[in-house]
Amino acid sequence: MSIPVSYANILARSSRRCYQIIGKIREESFNLEALTAACTRLSKNDPLYPLISAKQLSLEAGIAGEDRVAEILRQISFPMEHRIFHDLTLKASETFQIDSLLITQAFSLIFEVKNISGKLTFKEDPPQLIRVKENAQIDGFDSPAAQVERNVELFQEWLQQRGINIPVFGVVVLAYPKQIVDVAPKKTKVLFPKLIPTYIKKFYPLPKKFDSKTLDTITAKLIQAHQPFIPNPICQTYNIPKTVFQTGVLCTFCGKFGMTKIKKSWQCPSCKETDRLAHQKDIRVWFLLIGRKMTNSDCREFLRVDDPPTAYRLLQSMKLQGIGVFKKRIYYMDFNKKI
Ligand SMILES: [Zn+2]
Repeated sequence: MSIPVSYANILARSSRRCYQIIGKIREESFNLEALTAACTRLSKNDPLYPLISAKQLSLEAGIAGEDRVAEILRQISFPMEHRIFHDLTLKASETFQIDSLLITQAFSLIFEVKNISGKLTFKEDPPQLIRVKENAQIDGFDSPAAQVERNVELFQEWLQQRGINIPVFGVVVLAYPKQIVDVAPKKTKVLFPKLIPTYIKKFYPLPKKFDSKTLDTITAKLIQAHQPFIPNPICQTYNIPKTVFQTGVLCTFCGKFGMTKIKKSWQCPSCKETDRLAHQKDIRVWFLLIGRKMTNSDCREFLRVDDPPTAYRLLQSMKLQGIGVFKKRIYYMDFNKKI
């Protein structure tokens, strides 16, 4: 089984002793894209704005933490062949998401990366993470230790289903040192990124379970099995009407809404700039914010276009999936396909 072409260009030789292969890099987060678009189109006075904006910031911080771990892993000079995957979503008896995964010929290690500042207490029964902020505010979160333990079980199951036998370990990484662990979890190791290389070394003596060709086969299987996470539209997640969002085509030159359709292009009434493809990003945003199925009328309403044949041409140009004809056609967006 060969590695898909899209990933072939990210194969990198970064060590003298062996190949380091990044099996999968982090993709753009659709969730972050949706929250960012929501913030752009919500009024700052909307009661939902603080919540959506806080979610966006927290997601950005989380992604920055995962990138930090990815960078540490990239710099390690491993003495054995291995593959690294970031942001994998797989399905065993249930769907599970792995922040980072290291697979070698002897073992595999799952990283659960967290970015929760303050004093942290890992509770066991029931599993929970309690955070005390500097201002004494107390918050509860799902336990990342329980989450990584569950991911280990599910990944073991995924491997067994494919006849692959390799030990699976899991570790929680706290991305930033401002996180203080008051009470650590009993079973799961919690690390700061700098300690990752030392921690991994303790697994090096484990016996090899398969050859490098099998490692390639597993890599291909993981890439094929990955299911990108497509979040529900924001309106559905937060149970809000579509009317809360500003309509109109966004001018990326001056940031104002309401570009007008001119022949073969769009023009901004404020800064007068034109953009032939300005509608594409906004149609994509509609699918992230409002719904999974778009009609000609939805398109006209969101882009502020009066004429159905114009909306039809714009939608057809996007190469969306669709059923039905002309005005009655319903369009779907495949987020995995680049426009
Ligand atoms: Zn403009």
